[in-house]
This record gives sequence, C-alpha cells and structure tokens, in this order.
Amino acid sequence: MVVTLPDYSLQILRAYTIKKYQLGTDEKFKIFMLTGDTESSDFPWVIPPMEPGETRYLIDVETGLEMPFTIPVGYDFEVIKIWGSSSEPYIGREYVDGNLDSNLHVVPFDVYFEQEIGLTKISDFDPTLSTEHTYAISITHLGDEPALGTALIEAVLRKVHTEKITTKVVRCKYCGHQEEVPLETTRYKCPKCGMTTLFMYYPWGGRK
Ligand SMILES: [Zn+2]
Repeated sequence: MVVTLPDYSLQILRAYTIKKYQLGTDEKFKIFMLTGDTESSDFPWVIPPMEPGETRYLIDVETGLEMPFTIPVGYDFEVIKIWGSSSEPYIGREYVDGNLDSNLHVVPFDVYFEQEIGLTKISDFDPTLSTEHTYAISITHLGDEPALGTALIEAVLRKVHTEKITTKVVRCKYCGHQEEVPLETTRYKCPKCGMTTLFMYYPWGGRK
C-alpha cells in the first residue's frame, strides 16, 4: 500500500521566508505606537512632531487610548517586539504597575530594534495573574529640534483563566469622546463631533 503524506513544502518555505508569529487561539496581538510627523492623519497615534523635552506615552492602535494599558485579571501580556526610529535622540521608558523597569535610547537616523527573546512578560512578575496590571512606555525627546519619528511596541495578550475580550473602548482623536464598540471596529464616526478616527483590529488567534 502506498501512503501519501500531505505536502507541507509550501508552508515550510513560507516559514523560512515570511517572519510570522504563530498565535494560539487564546492569543491576540496588542500594538502601541507613536508617530510624529507634519502630515495629518486619522490614525490616532500620528501626532505633530514632538518638541524638545516633551514626553508622551504610546497609543493603543486598536483604541486610540494612551498608555498605560490595563491587563485584566487572568490575562498574560508578553512584549515580542520593540522598534524605534527618529530624526532626534529620545529615551524610551518602560513601566510595569507604574514602576520603571527599563529604558532604551534611540539614536537619530538609526533604527532601534529588539525582538521576541526575554522581553517583558507579566507572568514573570505575577505567575498567578490574579490581579490587574498596567504596562506603559513613554518616550522623551532629548534633542534640539522637533522630531519626526516612530516608536512601536508589539505584544501578545494571552487569555489564561477568564473570558475572551470581545469589545473595546475607543477614543475619538478629535474631541476625546469615548465609547464601547465591538473589537472588530476599525472606522469610528464620532456621534459628538462627526469626525472619523481609524483603528487597527487584531483578532484572537490572528489572521489566517
Ligand atoms: Zn469626536
């Protein structure tokens, strides 16, 4: 009898050529960004160039809310990528539950990059995940001129012992109005000011 095995050669080739984090069904991405630029945008993390000495927190690209991000009881949160680039020097500071736990420096016109190994994970700090935690990244402009740049943190939110989140509270970029909407919402027309803010959506289990 001839047994024909499935041909996985395409999947293997893709694994070698496309950098892709394989999410489990109880995992979703959380991404936080800040981009300073002179161009306007309906994405809430795109702001005017930061001024010397200014400090800002990264913004949740699914909701428009500024960090700190609250990790609910029963969820783990693991940072898998840190990326930054700017026309001016800046310092990034990382906080867990409001306590500074590390910092990093971005050199002008270069790229700062860390990925996947040994980055901050809430269960290293609270293995039982029995209380709520907060996680935040701030960046402070250390240079002399308005900064064009981007900072990005990518993390995995992992459901350990609770229900999956299916809604989110979004913030209108233009008037600050907040409203609870389905997690899938990417285009939000504000009932107060009529303006539209754009968001990302990262499904549980990732995109197939
Ligand atoms: Zn509004």
